[in-house]
Formats: sequence, C-alpha cells, structure tokens
Amino acid sequence: MKIGILKEIAPYEKRVALVPSIVKHLVQDNHAVYVQSGAGQTSFADDEAFRQSGTEVLPSAAAVCDRAEVLLKVQPPRTPDELALLKAGGHYIGFLSPFTDVDTIRAMARMNMTVFSMEMVPRITRAQSMDALSAMATVAGYKAVLLAADQIAKFMPLLMTAAGTITPANVLVLGAGVAGLQAIATAKRLGAAVEAFDPRPVVKEQVESLGARFVEMPMPEDTETEGGYAKQQSDAFLKQEQDVIAQRLPKVDIVITTAQIFGKPAPELITAEMVRLMRAGAVIVDLATEQGGNCALTELNRTVTAHDVTIIGAGNLPSLVPVHASQMYAKNISNLFTHLYQTGGFDFKDEITQSTCLVHDGQIKNALVDEALKTKGNA
Ligand code: NAD
Repeated sequence: MKIGILKEIAPYEKRVALVPSIVKHLVQDNHAVYVQSGAGQTSFADDEAFRQSGTEVLPSAAAVCDRAEVLLKVQPPRTPDELALLKAGGHYIGFLSPFTDVDTIRAMARMNMTVFSMEMVPRITRAQSMDALSAMATVAGYKAVLLAADQIAKFMPLLMTAAGTITPANVLVLGAGVAGLQAIATAKRLGAAVEAFDPRPVVKEQVESLGARFVEMPMPEDTETEGGYAKQQSDAFLKQEQDVIAQRLPKVDIVITTAQIFGKPAPELITAEMVRLMRAGAVIVDLATEQGGNCALTELNRTVTAHDVTIIGAGNLPSLVPVHASQMYAKNISNLFTHLYQTGGFDFKDEITQSTCLVHDGQIKNALVDEALKTKGNA
C-alpha cells in the first residue's frame, strides 16, 4: 500500500502518526511511505530521519494526499481545507472523535471513503498493541501528575530536613482505569500519599498493588461492559460517591480525575460547591475535560481558579510528551494498519475490523456511531 503521513494542523498538536523507526518496518513489508515535509518537526523526527527510514518526503499535504492510498493521522480532519485535500474513495485511519465530530464522518461517507477510527479499537487482548486510547491515557495520567506537582505550592514527598519534617502531599485519583493507574504510579514515584476510587471492584487490587489506598464506599453491582469499559452509574450512586469524595477533599492537595463512561458525557464527581471544601492552593487536573469534565468548574484547555483552587482542564496532554506519545501512537496505528491490510480485502467478521471501521462504501458501518449520528440528526 502507499501510505501518507501529514503534518498535524490542530492547535497544540505536536504528535505525528508514524515515526522513522516504525516506517522502517512498513517499508521492509513492501509498503511505500510518503511524509509531508516538517510533519515530524514538533516531535523531533526531522525530514532526514524519515528519509533514512525509507520514506519519501514531499513538499506539501496536497502532494502526499495525491500519492497515498491510505492516510495515517493523529487528529481528525480539522478544517474544510484539510477535508478537501482527502481523495474521494481514499482510505483513512486516525482518531476521529466519532461521537462528537459527526459532520466530518458524514462528509467522509459522502466522499465514499473507507475510514477506521483509533477510538474504536476494542479492549480485547488481541488488540492491545493497537489500543491508542490506552497508550495516550498512559501518557496523560503521567503528565497530569507532573502538571499538578508543578502547580502546588508544596513538595510532593516526605522530607526530613534540618529545617523540619515536611509531610507528603495528599493525592486523590478518581477513576482508576488506564490514566488513573498511571497517575497513581507517578504520584507514588514522586513520594505522595495517594488514595483512589473506581466503581469497578477489580480495580481495588490494582490500586493497592501500586501502594495506594482504595477509598471504600458501597459498590454498585453491575459495573463493567463486555468491552471492558465501565457502565453508567445511577444518580443515586453518584450522589453517594460525591458525599464520600466531599469527606476527602478538605485533606487533599491534588485531585486527578479520570472517570469516564465510553461514548458518554463524563460523570460529575466534584460539584462547584465541593470545590469550596478544598484546601487553599489545592489543584484539580481534570482529564475528562473533553467529555465535559468530572468537575463542574472545569473549562476545556483552560486553567481556572476558584476558591483558591486551581482547576486544569487538560485537553491534549499526550501532545506535551510528543516524542514518546508519537512513538506509542505509531506502534498502535501501524499494528492496526497491518491487521486491516494483511489480506486482499477487509474481513468485516473480524471484531477489530468491524469495530474500528466507521465508513466503507459510503455507509456508516459502526452501529454505535450510526446511533450517535442519528441522535444528532441527519445533516
Ligand atoms: P478508562 O476507561 O480506562 O478509565 C476510566 C475509569 O473511570 C474506569 O476505570 C471507570 O471504571 C472509571 N469510572 C467510571 N465512572 C466512575 C465514577 N463514577 N467514579 C469513579 N470512576 C469512574 O479510561 P482512560 O483511558 O483511563 O481515560 C480516562 C479519561 O482520561 C477519559 O475521559 C479520557 O478521555 C481522558 N484522557 C484525557 C487525555 C488528555 O490529554 N486530557 C488523554 C487521554 C485520556
């Protein structure tokens, strides 16, 4: 196949879809790779490194789109101009915000494209090496703690000094999936006292194995979907959870929130009133900001202060670690590419192909996304 890589144009986006070390393997497998000049600049992979890996570097996005049969991207097409570059009938793999960016998906269907979404890689063992959401959540969980550590006016670890003993910072992590577990591990490495909560019972042991305390509360019964994601909780449970969180808030310096229900708005775990309960100088980093936020006061891509508490609506943290985030993403997307294109045609009976394919032959192929498109009306 002829594979194209574009320079990402979304604001703040520093990742690139393929890195030279991964391109090498694709070229060995007899694929041709075309990259737009400067595509790797913000992740420190220059044109020369791409050339040495066997890539042909082309001067413009238009030249890449013209030559490529399949485009590998990080961000969805962001502007009408970027969308207009895509070839009718062409193939595309990347993040596509399938539940929110419905107009782009409809436009790609009208262009008769074949489109695969990185968000829809199923959480099954066979697809782990393609699971970019998990890879990026790992980056985000790590970076969230560093942002918080930078923002609080305190040390993170216990320090015993001649000037007295400094007690460790208290960190509360809400939601202990991929991002949450990485946040716990990172905060522990920095020496903080960490506690965490997640309604899925299996998580307790994982939290404790990282040396954090699991916040106890009555657990709901039916918590996990077959796809490995959390189920939506009742309003009664959320109220009960807010009460338990409210008891913790006066004691914590940092809250990292990562609670999500896949494809749904984020549950509100910290109301505006609850922020008042926190210590002056405390910090909330809300990773669920793109789904509306776990804190009522979170604003997407903004840092706001309320009642002396800093609330960071951290939208694209992987982009702040562009070298390793690109490396991990490139591995994920090349594994999905190889899986999809290993035989002559697509096998829509295969769970990975079926789940990731959003559009083929002008049709919306994914039932969940089709439902979301219908809910948002027919444009
Ligand atoms: P995940 O599905 O692995 O984890 C989410 C966790 O939230 C699950 O363990 C789930 O049980 C838990 N949860 C659900 N309802 C809850 C509740 N009421 N209280 C506490 N926990 C609850 O997801 P993930 O991959 O770890 O991603 C977590 C969040 O981080 C998502 O919102 C995702 O979009 C976001 N994220 C943000 C960035 C960024 O840069 N801002 C990057 C990657 C991921």
